Order: sequence, then structure tokens, then C-alpha cells
Amino acid sequence: MTRLAKMVGTSWRWLVGENGSARQILHHGFLVSAVLIGLFSAVFNYLMELTVPAYSVALAVISLMVMVMWYRSRFHGEFSRMSWLFCTLVTFVMLPGNWVFNHGASGPTLLFYLMAAAYVLGVLPPDRLRRGVIISGLMLMPWILLWGEMANPQLVSSYASTAMRSLDMGVSYTLAFGLLSLVIAGYAKRIREERDLARAYATKLERLSRLDSLTGLYNHRTIHEHAEHHLSGRDISCLLICDLDHFKQINDAHGHPYGDQVLAHFSMHIQTLSREYSGKAGRYGGEEFMILLPGNLAVAREFDRQLRESCEASPLAHGVIRFSTGVSERRHPDTLSSWVQRSDEALYHAKASGRDQLIVDHDISMV
Ligand code: GH3
Ligand code: MG
Ligand code: MG
Repeated sequence: MTRLAKMVGTSWRWLVGENGSARQILHHGFLVSAVLIGLFSAVFNYLMELTVPAYSVALAVISLMVMVMWYRSRFHGEFSRMSWLFCTLVTFVMLPGNWVFNHGASGPTLLFYLMAAAYVLGVLPPDRLRRGVIISGLMLMPWILLWGEMANPQLVSSYASTAMRSLDMGVSYTLAFGLLSLVIAGYAKRIREERDLARAYATKLERLSRLDSLTGLYNHRTIHEHAEHHLSGRDISCLLICDLDHFKQINDAHGHPYGDQVLAHFSMHIQTLSREYSGKAGRYGGEEFMILLPGNLAVAREFDRQLRESCEASPLAHGVIRFSTGVSERRHPDTLSSWVQRSDEALYHAKASGRDQLIVDHDISMV
């Protein structure tokens, strides 16, 4: 039984194209069901003598045409064209035909018009003109047919007996119920799909709002948040501010795009190294970077040494990236601004005393 259910599930997925959008799955599912219902009705009507035999033949032929539409839509990428064609055929040909040969207002056609409406509203592309034509057709055709039947009742076939009508209506109701379930399942899938898409966008946006677009490091706001987090903890940590040396000259001499390349390259080194140190790195502004490291000043010195080493080992087209660093360890009772200020002062001294070096805040007096 489970194997059978699996086989049915796999075949159904193949029929509807499980990898397509919810609209396509609904469309293919509806078309496949329409073919099955069409063929079933052709046989059923013929056997029960509900309609003239020619109508059963026509129904079978139309069902095969729908099968071709399914095939072209499923395997030749003609989803839009086929859904439009199918809607037109159903609204203006198949259902009016069914009306005439399948007992007009006494038969099941109105029920099928409702099913078609449920399908159309979920599947048709948001092309205003086409949607307008089909929806107007779905609204007006039943009225036109009702009026036609009232004016010329002899044009519409009638049931041989009340029992036949009950049987036809009962079977049609069950088929319509099946189709409606399919359409609703399609809508549910579409809602899930859109919800997942919205979630993915929200996650992406949230991530982007935390990062600097040029370097991929945390932006100013986020690195500040991390610094606040370090301040609220008990562990020893250091705050480094690195500033590229004579960056303005690099921009002036080699152009802004090259300057951007330097920033991105330097950030990559910072990123790699700060991950190794379980730290957090952000672009503080222009060519200034803030790094938060768990650990004491010895750790910070080692970080800075390795950063210089890796920059030295991979020079860019116009030379090695040089930078100055100011660092301070968190003290009690530090606020974010007092902590940043100490590292900033150390950086200032690193610049003032020749650049391309690291200065620790408590060494300033010795500089
Ligand atoms: P110092 O060694 O004293 O730090 O000198 P500097 O030239 O590095 O510092 P200054 O503050 O005079 O200049 C910083 C330059 O950084 C000026 C600005 O045009 C450049 N800059 C800021 N942001 C960007 C950016 O995103 N891309 C590029 N290419 N340049 C930037
Ligand atoms: Mg600079
Ligand atoms: Mg600067």
C-alpha cells in the first residue's frame, strides 16, 4: 500500500512538474484532471446514455486536445500560452458545448463554470487584457446561456428521467469537489511559496543591513553593537582601530577604484584573521577599521603582527598595504566612548610617530 502510494505520488509529481512554480503546478494538475474527467465523462455519458453519442466523441477529442496542451506546457515551456488557450477554450467552447449537450441549467455546467473560475483566478498571468477577457467571459457566459435556453429551450438536451439527472449531478458534484480541492491545494502551495520567498528576502535584507557593502565587514552600527556586547561581558577584550596610511595619496595617485580594491583586500585579511581569533571586525568609516578581540593586549599585538605579515605577503599592484593601529584593553568602568577614545588616541600617536605601527594606549606617555 505504501509502495502504491509512493508510486502514485511520484507519478503525480511528474505530471504536474513539482519543480515549477505553484501556478504551474496548479495549471498542470488542473489540466491532467480535466483530461481524466473529460475522458471519464465521455465514457460515463455514453454508457448511461446521458448525452448523444456524438457529444461523447467530441468530449473525448477535446480531452485529447487538452492533453496536448498539458504536454506543450509541461515539456515545451509554453505554460503562459497554454493556460490562456485552455481558459479560452473552457470558457467559450467547452462549457457552452456542455451546456447545450448536457442539459443546460438542469445539468452540471454551472458547477463547472465555478470550478473554471477557481482555476482561472489562481493561474492566469497578471496580464490585464487577457484576465479581463476570461473573467468577463466567466461572468457573462452563464447568463448568455441561460437566456439562450430560456428563448430556445428545444436547443438544449433534457434528461430522460429524474434519476438520470440525480446520478449526473451527484457524479459531477464529486468531480467538482475533487477539482476544488486541487485548486485550494494549489493556492496553499502558492501562499507557502510566497511566505518562504518573503522570509528569504527578510533574512537577506537583515544580513545586508548589518554589513558594509564594499568590504563585507560589519558596518559602523553593527560593530558598535558588538563593542557594547563586549563591554557588558566580564571577559578581557581589546579594541583595535586600524587606519590605512596615506590613503588619500593612494587614491590620488592610482584612482578611486584602486583605492576601493585596497579597502576590499585589506578587509579580507582582517576578516580571515579576526575569525581565527574569534573576534569581530567592522568598517568604522572611510579607511578606518575596528576590531574587537577576546583576550589581552598580548593577543592584540599578535593579531596586529600577523595582519601586517599577511599584508606584506600579498602586495597589490602598487605596493604593500601599510596601516597604523591604536589599541586599548577594556577597563572598568569603561563606556563605549571612553574605550573607543583610548584606542583612537593610541592611533593618533601611531600616526604622529611615523605610521605603520601599533601603539597601545598605556604606552602613549612613553612615545
Ligand atoms: P593618514 O595616513 O593620516 O591616515 O592619511 P590618509 O590619507 O589615509 O587620511 P585622510 O583622512 O587624509 O584621507 C582618507 C581618504 O580616504 C580620503 C577619502 O577620499 C578616502 N576614502 C574614504 N572612503 C573611501 C572609499 O570608500 N573608497 C576610496 N577609494 N577612498 C575612500
Ligand atoms: Mg588614513
Ligand atoms: Mg582616517
